Amino acid sequence: MSTAPEPLRAALALAAAGVPVLPLRRGKVPFGNCRFCKDGACGGRPNMKTAGPCRCPAPCHAWAAATTDPHVLTSPVWASAWREAVAVAYHPGGAGLTVVDLDNAAAVTWARKTLPATRTVPTTRGEHWIYQGTMTSSNAVRPGVDIKSLTQYARWLGPGTGRMAALPAAVRALTVKEDTTPAGGAVASSLPARATWGRTVATGCRHTERYVRTGLERGLALVRARTESGAGSQAFGVARFLAAQHIECPGPCGLAAIGEEVVAAAVSVGVPENYARRAVANGLETTAERAA
Ligand SMILES: [Zn+2]
Ligand SMILES: [Zn+2]
Ligand SMILES: [Zn+2]
Repeated sequence: MSTAPEPLRAALALAAAGVPVLPLRRGKVPFGNCRFCKDGACGGRPNMKTAGPCRCPAPCHAWAAATTDPHVLTSPVWASAWREAVAVAYHPGGAGLTVVDLDNAAAVTWARKTLPATRTVPTTRGEHWIYQGTMTSSNAVRPGVDIKSLTQYARWLGPGTGRMAALPAAVRALTVKEDTTPAGGAVASSLPARATWGRTVATGCRHTERYVRTGLERGLALVRARTESGAGSQAFGVARFLAAQHIECPGPCGLAAIGEEVVAAAVSVGVPENYARRAVANGLETTAERAA
């Protein structure tokens, strides 16, 4: 093992710590797919978004090949990749992590002003900020800022410094797209049958119906007031706030119905429904995780 290439030695150490890894070739990109996997001929791996039956022993399909299994990492097909590898990548989502990839000095400055401190790793022109917790990956959420977590790989550039913080709501909110369509009366008609919150769906809630209803109406008014922009983020904030009212309840509190009402309010001021749903789901989920 003393002759193992440096990237492989680093990869094995990471894998032993529970971080799924893969080799990067020249250009710091994953190795291309083998001829059986080329152009998705294999259908893809089971862990991919469109899941397929691929069990290819080669490091095909980029992040989806990342593994902690030392036998796979040192297998003959991977060994030839490691001999050509110039760097190691890891699958942040597979390790329960999210990397906020800050590409340049301006992005780093923004993060220092906006995000809670966490473990940071210097990169060529910027920094990786690493948080505990996973989310959907998204590129260019702001100028020079990518989110790498599930279904993504990130380059391994060392352990970094600083204490790792839990993935904050401020980062989750970055993937909530702002609505750009102006408010209009027509969009409301495309709404699905509207679910409303009531006692029947909140059998385990310790609050009075009036308390919940008042908070909900206040939140809906905040969302509906955002007729120009920001209704998506507002929906996220309102969902998070409303869910937080119930962290002490034995449940169920009918949070899904509350979420539906917030979605409907956001859609009524022009937020595309899929964005609204994601914003609200993220908001409810953020609180649920904090309560756990
Ligand atoms: Zn393959
Ligand atoms: Zn394949
Ligand atoms: Zn409750």
